[in-house]
Amino acid sequence: MSQNNQTQYDDNNIFAKMLKGDIPYHKVYEDDKTLAFMDIMPQAKGHVLVIPKQKAVDLADLEPEYAAAVLMTSKKVMAAQRQVFEREGVIQMQLNGAQAGQTVFHYHVHLVPSSIHELGRHAVTQADNAELAVQAEQLAAAIYA
Ligand code: AMP
Repeated sequence: MSQNNQTQYDDNNIFAKMLKGDIPYHKVYEDDKTLAFMDIMPQAKGHVLVIPKQKAVDLADLEPEYAAAVLMTSKKVMAAQRQVFEREGVIQMQLNGAQAGQTVFHYHVHLVPSSIHELGRHAVTQADNAELAVQAEQLAAAIYA
């Protein structure tokens, strides 16, 4: 496949499995069009992923109503991160295609409470599950307060 041909959506990708309820995750927020959960290999404390409930590999596939829904959920998550982690700086990041470093081929927005100068390595170090559970609870409580 040439580098500018898009990857096909795989119904068994890890985020599709989460949406089907087949694998566990630390939920932060859910509505009819989106799901937000803790990144298991965070690039900073409190790293959250927001995904649409649409079969989209990357930005090219994302339908307008899901694009809007992902951004609205991202705003909620970021507000909660600012409150819980007591910092203003949050990076919003999203990778399109393996060439860009994308590793899970279901569209997702990264929200990382960090500075571009301090960002940890991408998808390398697994976080402690108990810590992720606490962070997810704190963020969810801030969103639903
Ligand atoms: P990307 O490289 O932009 O596709 O990012 C994929 C992200 O998914 C990485 O930051 C990984 O740490 C994260 N990730 C992979 N598997 C899981 C999982 N089971 N639960 C939560 N996050 C995951």
